[in-house]
Amino acid sequence: MAGNVSDNLKAVQSDIAKACRKAGRAEGTVTLVAVSKTFGAEDIRPALEAGQRVFGENRVQEAHKKWPKLREDYSGIELHLIGPLQTNKVSEALALFDVIETLDREKLARAFAKEREKGADLPRLFIQVNTGEEEQKAGILPEEADGFIKLCRDELRLPVEGLMCIPPVDEEPALHFALLRKIAERNGLSALSMGMSADYETGIELGATHVRVGSAIFGART
Ligand SMILES: *Cc1c(COP(=O)(O)O)cnc(C)c1O
Repeated sequence: MAGNVSDNLKAVQSDIAKACRKAGRAEGTVTLVAVSKTFGAEDIRPALEAGQRVFGENRVQEAHKKWPKLREDYSGIELHLIGPLQTNKVSEALALFDVIETLDREKLARAFAKEREKGADLPRLFIQVNTGEEEQKAGILPEEADGFIKLCRDELRLPVEGLMCIPPVDEEPALHFALLRKIAERNGLSALSMGMSADYETGIELGATHVRVGSAIFGART
């Protein structure tokens, strides 16, 4: 069960504004992606009522259960996939999501290209970089990022908008955010999805254009 979602949302929005001022950035340069995974429509509706329109989900199946109905009831929703995507779920994901933040391997990039050949409109894409080079985590390794960006953008002509990362839990996130920003800058990519409930202010300080905030809005997940 979520806490007081609209109060939490207001507090997060105000912290984002504060972090923007501190970093000398205009407030509108950061998009809040409210991560509603594991929470039901009854917990999401208060956020929609409060005006929030950008949401993140980590599972195709779960999103499929919740969002078609919510889209009927509220206009202007922008849904981001922030969890791993299997290639056999690509066409379903294209139908559901406006942004896919987890383009993390060549096989998936080629699956997107194939869908477009078949006539599909592709969503905006972020490439996930495994900045901590963690065995268990998805994403392109930092030293392979430039080549992968080239493949996606130049060869496959995918609509790559930016980069995303999830830093290791036990490390200083700032180092990972700075690395992600460096890779984006040298490749001319403008969007950076970095920062979650515990570290979104740090993300903003280091140039995040998107922060993915779940528990600070909806409460602890069970
Ligand atoms: C769950 C999740 C988040 C949100 O995490 P919180 O700590 O609850 O803010 C952000 N990004 C990704 C990729 C996630 O899976």
